[in-house]
Amino acid sequence: MATKQRPSFDSHNPINGDAIGTYPIFSKSDIADVVIRARIATVKWQRIGFSARKQVLLAWSSLIMKRIEQIAELISRETGKPMSDARLEVSIAVNHIEWAARHADSIMRTSFRRPGLLMANMAATVERSPLGVIGVIGPWNYPIFTPVGSISYALAAGNSVLFKPSEYSPGVGMWLEESFNEVAPFADIFTTITGLAETGSALCVSEIDKLSFTGSTRTAKLVAAQCASAMIPVVLECGGKDPVIVAADADIKRAVDATMWSAMANAGQSCIGAERVYVDEKVADEFIARAVELASTIHAGGPGEGNYGPATMPSQIKVISSHIKAAIADGGTCVYGGPQSVKSPYVQPVVLVNVPESSVAMREETFGPIIIINRVATMREAIDLSNASRFGLGANVWSKRQGKKIASQLQCGMVAINSTFAFAAIASVPFGGVKDSGSGRVHGPEGLLEYTFARTVVRTRFHLPLKLLSFKRRPREDALVIKLTKLLKGRLS
Ligand code: NAD
Repeated sequence: MATKQRPSFDSHNPINGDAIGTYPIFSKSDIADVVIRARIATVKWQRIGFSARKQVLLAWSSLIMKRIEQIAELISRETGKPMSDARLEVSIAVNHIEWAARHADSIMRTSFRRPGLLMANMAATVERSPLGVIGVIGPWNYPIFTPVGSISYALAAGNSVLFKPSEYSPGVGMWLEESFNEVAPFADIFTTITGLAETGSALCVSEIDKLSFTGSTRTAKLVAAQCASAMIPVVLECGGKDPVIVAADADIKRAVDATMWSAMANAGQSCIGAERVYVDEKVADEFIARAVELASTIHAGGPGEGNYGPATMPSQIKVISSHIKAAIADGGTCVYGGPQSVKSPYVQPVVLVNVPESSVAMREETFGPIIIINRVATMREAIDLSNASRFGLGANVWSKRQGKKIASQLQCGMVAINSTFAFAAIASVPFGGVKDSGSGRVHGPEGLLEYTFARTVVRTRFHLPLKLLSFKRRPREDALVIKLTKLLKGRLS
């Protein structure tokens, strides 16, 4: 869209701090204008129907894949992550676009419900309609995968979208809007609004119909409060402190490989990254030894040099450093790396053991390439400690025989058994957390339905002699209802 004279901000290369782009700061009144246009667009977007929307979204996904090098390079430049990670992220995001495009129709199909005996003369149906204009606020750590998990599902359902990307990845946000508009049948279906926290805040009190937020729990609380004041419903995808449970019968080699990748990939900046391990004491020594051995082969560096990149957000370095120091001060031991591993903008791998549960390093999201490994005597203890967190996003369980049994006792939104991260790449399953990790879901049918509302439609098929919903109801009809209620015990409806 044409930009007026707006104040602007720069995005930076996280490795050397160089400014790499300048973007407008959208104000409250700019957002109001965009919402008005998006509301007009959503009517047309709904009218063209599922099949036409599917074609547009599939054309968009093809275009993204055609230009995968371009977008991966931009992601890598803004976040500092390796190109191969950026490419993988794009591929998974495209998979979500295609799944949403192909399944929106069936997920939103009108469902027929049983009316029950008392209302047996009625037909009962539930229709699903798009909400209208959806606001999406995104983080920087997976700047295409994360927002696309909301954007593409909202679009497929027939909504228009206003996307506010993180101030650390505005270029990716603009790229998404521009590429979509190359295949869009008309303007204003999908608009990116760049800016800082104030722009996100203004979006929360604009005339949108729902807001899908992904970011920290701290910001989510501000977003939820603001949206509540404007009666705007929210989806909140927030931080985590994901546990990994390792049973005595686990394949330790695989468990270590996946856990170290989960903890360290993307410089540990993954909401569902492993942060704490509870390993059965019978196999703990082997697990720790293998983790240390693997850590020694991994290092942070720029794209093309490191297994992972820098801390994208400079302020996170302080948090990471303080958690390592707190873990040691509270009685934990560094078995690989330590406070000296933090050399801004990079953090080299750190493996800690025996850190007390009360330590801030065990309680708060570190969001760095740090893993804490604690021993447990039983799987019951591992489950209880996993659940003792204020977070409840994801979890990993490593066991040959007890995986499902342990998984079903975890208070979190997603569990991978003998794997990690996999649920994020399976488009058909919902993604999200409980407790301070958020509410609502993205991905899968549940994620798509977040951007719709249910319209119940009941219709009289034939008229009964009983006049229940009328002032003409007679005492014998009252008596009949009471008799049937007693007789059928809840089977009346
Ligand atoms: P953040 O909370 O700092 O920012 C997220 C977004 O909110 C940004 O676009 C920012 O500009 C905007 N924002 C900031 N203040 C705002 C306000 N007052 N009102 C409205 N918007 C505001 O988070 P971040 O640092 O970008 O992302 C990292 C966090 O995101 C981590 O906690 C991570 O765990 C979480 N995350 C969660 C998921 C998930 O799906 N659960 C996925 C990725 C990241």
